[in-house]
Amino acid sequence: METVLTFDPIEAAGYVKRGGIVAFPTETVYGLGANVFDATAVAKIFEAKMRPADNPLIAHVCDTSQIERLVKNITGSASKLIEAFFPGPLTVVLERSGEVPDVATAGLDTIGVRMPRFEIAHRFLEACGVPVVAPSANLSGKPSPTTWQAVFEDLGGRIDCILQGDPTEIGLESTVVDCTSDHPVLLRLGSVSLSDLREVVPDIREVGSDDPATVRSPGLRHRHYSPRAHVVLISDDKGLPTTENSAFIGLHRPSAGVRLAKICSSVGEYASSVFEFFRECDRRGIETIYCELVSGEGIGAALNDRLRRAAED
Ligand code: AMP
Ligand code: MG
Repeated sequence: METVLTFDPIEAAGYVKRGGIVAFPTETVYGLGANVFDATAVAKIFEAKMRPADNPLIAHVCDTSQIERLVKNITGSASKLIEAFFPGPLTVVLERSGEVPDVATAGLDTIGVRMPRFEIAHRFLEACGVPVVAPSANLSGKPSPTTWQAVFEDLGGRIDCILQGDPTEIGLESTVVDCTSDHPVLLRLGSVSLSDLREVVPDIREVGSDDPATVRSPGLRHRHYSPRAHVVLISDDKGLPTTENSAFIGLHRPSAGVRLAKICSSVGEYASSVFEFFRECDRRGIETIYCELVSGEGIGAALNDRLRRAAED
């Protein structure tokens, strides 16, 4: 299949309206979208990404009124979080309505809903006229794409269209909160931090790895965010071995020599560049990537989470 590249959100939306799948930029990462109500189109997303069928998708809306058709009811905690953080990098999970096809939520009776704040995403979603389900626009298991070029590298020839935009701002996937019960559960860390959430909903709790709530978020069990290279986490550079074909990303220049180093001036810059750095290392055939862990405040907690997952084998 030929993948059309365009800067025009209206042209890109045309493919969604005709039952196609389209990659589009958001402030978190690039998404691969289809009309949520078109089960055949949604199935194409799983095929193109080679995504396991038990990994649910997030529905993207341009307006809060679009949420009503997707869910049974908006709980009190969800409406507070929506009010505080939409549009932005937060996904709320609610009980899904009968109109949402099984394939979109991997058979779960819940659906994640998010409203991106990138202007180009907003114009695209508005032109689609329906909520658009979208996971990250990468091949399953690879680092999420933060540029349209990274999308093309993984999915060129496998999807109908790529809406070309700027590199994403945040560079990590959205924070996900299960709002189906009275006591919301933080399922995935993102740039909206636990303390940001607690300012709005004080009794929110964190999910433990053996918590039954992880059953409700199958994506957390899958291998994720991994480059081909071996990822090694370091807290300071004292233990940094010098292997010939290695790279480093972090906040402080390592004392040992590496082939490729990225020294970031802030945790935010580190978060926004880490996935692209992983991809660049793979393009160059780097064997080991040393990643400096950061202090766990704000987006640092989400960054450490992604680094730990990338280091799992
Ligand atoms: P991705 O957009 O590729 O980051 O994938 C979406 C992730 O959001 C999934 O892997 C899940 O971890 C989470 N998610 C999406 N929908 C739900 C849901 N209905 N319940 C719980 N977690 C969800
Ligand atoms: Mg993903």
